Amino acid sequence: MKVLVMAPQGNRHLDEQELENYSMGRVCAEEASRLAQHLLTCETCRRQLSETKAYVWSMQRAGARLQEEQQRGWRSWMYPRFALILAAALAVLAFGLSLRFSKPVAVPPVAVTLATTRGVAGEAQAPPGRPLLLQPDLEGLPALPSYPLEIVDRSGRRVWQGVLYPSASGTSVAAPAARTGLYFVRVSTPAGTLLREYPLQIGAPR
Ligand SMILES: [Zn+2]
Repeated sequence: MKVLVMAPQGNRHLDEQELENYSMGRVCAEEASRLAQHLLTCETCRRQLSETKAYVWSMQRAGARLQEEQQRGWRSWMYPRFALILAAALAVLAFGLSLRFSKPVAVPPVAVTLATTRGVAGEAQAPPGRPLLLQPDLEGLPALPSYPLEIVDRSGRRVWQGVLYPSASGTSVAAPAARTGLYFVRVSTPAGTLLREYPLQIGAPR
């Protein structure tokens, strides 16, 4: 049990809490002035205060050192890992860029002859994933400077359209690769009249 020795005029000694607060500057001006006044006249409290100050100071130093060590520890933990993470991120980025900017491996187009047998279009076939070089047989069609072409899937949805320009050197038009399925290549007049429709099986029929 702590005994507070009361000095005359209620000028008691400072307790531990007051000493600590005072040494750490955690007191209001009024309180500080009261404590300072007592300290001026009290040797005991002055000694107590200097001990408290030394204690507080050592605690603060220890705290700072601990914090410093924790930071250093964190850094020594983080830096090698950060370097690894950074290197990995750069590798991924470089790989992505190389994919983006490297030329795609050229897949040669496959020529697809869209022929008619006595005016009846037979089913042409082509592998999936290969660009197409469509060569429709224009035999029997009205001679036009150009023929709009389109590829529709079996539900009639257009998947590609282009224009075929007949020439003496060979009538063909490049079309993109398609996925497996049954398609129809439609040859029309520039006015939009459907002239002929060739079935085109991409990949194995289902
Ligand atoms: Zn005192």
